[in-house]
Amino acid sequence: FPCDVIRNFSIIAHIDHGKSTLADRLLELTGTISKKSTGTNQQVLDKLKVERERGITVKAQTASMLHTANGKAHLLNLIDTPGHVDFAWEVSRSLAACQGALLLVDATQGVQAQSISVFHVAKERGLTIIPVLNKIDLPASQPERIAAQLQSTFGIDPSDVLQISAKTGKGVEHVLHAIIERIPPPHGNADEPLKAFLFDSLYDRYRGVISLVRIQDGVLRKGDKIASCHTRKKYEVTEVGVMYPEEVPTASLQPGQVGYIACNMKESSEAHIGDTLHRLGVPVDPMPGFQPAKAMVYAGVFPVDSNDFIKLEESIKRLTLTDRSVTVQRESSSALGQGCRLGFLGTLHMDVFRQRLEDEYDASIIVTAPTVPYKVVYKDRTVLVSNPTEFPDVSDTASKVKEVQEPVVKASIIVPEEYLGEMMDLCFSHRAEDLDHRYLDAGAASASSASTSSASTSTASTPSNPPNSSTAPIPTTHTTADATVDASPPATANATPAPTSSAPRAILTCTIPLSEIVTDFFDQLKSRSSGYASFDYEDGGYKTSDLAKMVFLLNSKPVDALALIVHRSAQQHVGRTWVKKLHKVIPRQLFEVPIQAAVGKKIIARETLSAMRADVTAGLYGGHYERKMKHLENQKASKRRMKRVGSVELPQEAFFDVLSTG
Ligand code: GDP
Ligand code: MG
Repeated sequence: FPCDVIRNFSIIAHIDHGKSTLADRLLELTGTISKKSTGTNQQVLDKLKVERERGITVKAQTASMLHTANGKAHLLNLIDTPGHVDFAWEVSRSLAACQGALLLVDATQGVQAQSISVFHVAKERGLTIIPVLNKIDLPASQPERIAAQLQSTFGIDPSDVLQISAKTGKGVEHVLHAIIERIPPPHGNADEPLKAFLFDSLYDRYRGVISLVRIQDGVLRKGDKIASCHTRKKYEVTEVGVMYPEEVPTASLQPGQVGYIACNMKESSEAHIGDTLHRLGVPVDPMPGFQPAKAMVYAGVFPVDSNDFIKLEESIKRLTLTDRSVTVQRESSSALGQGCRLGFLGTLHMDVFRQRLEDEYDASIIVTAPTVPYKVVYKDRTVLVSNPTEFPDVSDTASKVKEVQEPVVKASIIVPEEYLGEMMDLCFSHRAEDLDHRYLDAGAASASSASTSSASTSTASTPSNPPNSSTAPIPTTHTTADATVDASPPATANATPAPTSSAPRAILTCTIPLSEIVTDFFDQLKSRSSGYASFDYEDGGYKTSDLAKMVFLLNSKPVDALALIVHRSAQQHVGRTWVKKLHKVIPRQLFEVPIQAAVGKKIIARETLSAMRADVTAGLYGGHYERKMKHLENQKASKRRMKRVGSVELPQEAFFDVLSTG
């Protein structure tokens, strides 16, 4: 394939706007996969079970297609991008291999927070953008209005906007034409020394590590000897090919082409994302790579039965082969035994990994409350702390802590205007600062310039009727312990009621501590906006904050696995909530047990567990012999999983209960 018939593109879309469906249609239309009955969702690219279940794309996938236009066969490479804020790193990495992108927007929903952030990444990289409105088969779709929105938000000319239904296939052939007509071919030179950009890797049980590459210059063939710019390791290429849509071996990979190579890499870590591969003995300047993914949410993972640790660790290792952005360290807790401390890109990432682990590991795990990485500043050094047990007692002057900083993010939320007040309250109750908002639809409040190309510049369209301009934080009930985030969209677009889709949309921006959004923020965002809000964030650096470690004491002994880092304003609430939860799940002991929450030396909350009688069978009606025996056996079985905290005996399940309920 000469370069001029190659097109490398991705699809940028907010969750549920139809990216997977469009990918299926494109693959069908080009004969890459056979056509099933119209309207079925094959979701060829969503390979992971959890992706299919949740309907989200986690890992970027790549597929090649052949399409003949103007009498010439074209090779179209679709490089999928995940549609979630946690995976921004994967997004920018996918875009680096492309010259163009389809900006796919649901014509019943309009522009959403993630479309905006990914659009800007694509623009910065100089990609050609093809705007596509999807779901025009739905009566609630408003293509003209959304096209105007694209114009006011991104400066897109409405005459460039395609209108399709990915579900019925209507208009999809125009998308193929636009890809060929509008997106420039990659340029590269077959006669230059080999330069291959490594943008992703897969793990195959039989062939080991498979690297996905885009050839910049030169030609790559089976049998070639190559080396990595990053690791300087040498390899012999055992197979090259294209994803069509599964791996199909080819004789070579030409400049501009995207494909896979197998070269006997043993460890996944050898396939360094962003690396440049070159011919052995013919060194080249490496292409600009990537910042490695940064873990932003940490949690400890422990087996419910401590004897299962080895099995758990093996499952974790196997899973990290396919998801390299998870960081793993061993951790041991006096209360929970041996476990692993895992670092994730975000809460959805954590949740997805946990689900995959449970599928694969086939046993119960205990996941501790999520923590973000804090900076503890001493006079002469700064320490990054991502485990509450390592957090110093800041109230103790002997600890010499100058200050504590926490990571913050710049958040943007897009909602129909009637939910703006509700969203502001939500942000305030999560310690948001620098709140600002404006309207997305050009004509909503004032005549704003139609050529606003950046979402971050305010168009100063002040609302005629601000929904709730109160700046006082409105108290909300929030359960800080909730580690589960339901990121799956509440309803598919088909089921979404129409009325609000015609309401003007507002974009709300603020700075918010990351720790505030790793708990129940998404759930509340979705429920308090009836599912209409979309949310995205980017790194906002660190800010000084009034934080302290909260520990829980059973009979005056601290339980390490339950330590939390809490902002002063939330101490009372958090302390009380947790103490109540513990009181509920801890079985009564032979003696009275005080359950306390403490910050430094100060007790914040307390409950008392009253004593029970020694003979567990005494309370059983009539003392029937068989029942009595059974009860004693049960007690023996659970003894094995008992943990001791000081003099208090705790079943491991109690931790499971307290950490997994909100
Ligand atoms: P993704 O999250 O962007 O990959 O979105 P999907 O492709 O999974 O689509 C989300 C939902 O929208 C699914 O229920 C699809 O069947 C539906 N959908 C996608 N395209 C269309 C369309 O053109 N018309 C209609 N009515 N539904 C669509
Ligand atoms: Mg999808």
